[in-house]
Amino acid sequence: MIDFPEDDVIVRGKNTKISFFEKNPRKCPFCLTEFYHESLLTGNSRIIAGPLRNDLRRIYEKSSKYGKVYPLIYVVTVCPKCLYAAFSEDFSLADISRADHALSEQYNRRKYVEDFFGTDIDFTKNRDLVSGAASYFLAISGYYWHTKDVFPTLKKALSSLRLSWTLEDLAAEMPSENYDRLIPFFQYKASELYTKSIDIMQTGEELHDKLKSFGPDIDNNFGYEGMLYMGACLALSASVFMPDKAVKLSVLEDAKTKISRIFGSGKSSKAKPGPLLDKIRELHVSITDEVETLKL
Ligand SMILES: [Zn+2]
Repeated sequence: MIDFPEDDVIVRGKNTKISFFEKNPRKCPFCLTEFYHESLLTGNSRIIAGPLRNDLRRIYEKSSKYGKVYPLIYVVTVCPKCLYAAFSEDFSLADISRADHALSEQYNRRKYVEDFFGTDIDFTKNRDLVSGAASYFLAISGYYWHTKDVFPTLKKALSSLRLSWTLEDLAAEMPSENYDRLIPFFQYKASELYTKSIDIMQTGEELHDKLKSFGPDIDNNFGYEGMLYMGACLALSASVFMPDKAVKLSVLEDAKTKISRIFGSGKSSKAKPGPLLDKIRELHVSITDEVETLKL
């Protein structure tokens, strides 16, 4: 078992604890290492919810008592030894019939995570923005070891999207480290994975009935409509980097179709989450404008 860390309390400013290591150890389904996962304490106004961005990311205000808190960095459980990672509710559900393969890849996992995030990564220590970003990076590969029961493609899409969000925070906190250069790549990856997830919902290739939340952020669940919206939203962002006009047009037409599906999904507009509905309309206008400009 990996020892309980001595510095199990995050101390910021006025000796204020914002997280804790769980009392009971988790056990890695692959290498069987036992370790303690760190979770965020949520009471006492530690996190102050601010506005919802157009990409459905929740912004949190800085607390005068607790400082800047990043709830996103605590939700992926990572085995500190073999670096297998998944969202906390899925961690123990990995397909252990593939343990040999999963373990044989552990050296590659470490190499890639160190290439991107440095050699100081240690998941027995308190999370910070760097290890938080690394946890999502590892979760993208971690869902390769899951069965269709947990809708792994959407989990990879969420991991890639939240990685791009955490990279934004890192770029703001450490502007000299060039983390901003990685953001378009993981946004594009999220866009591809969202498109794939939407197709999978049609074919039934993976299952979504046990899905806890479609997210995309940890404080919201915008359901199937939210997934279609995110697919279109990310496609619009990704299209900025597409030099080929015909490809760009095709991607944007596909994004428009996704939005049309929200309106045609059989429910009345009153049944759809309110904050999303206005954003859907705005996105539809933005994509339509972009398509019209390209056709000129
Ligand atoms: Zn492990």
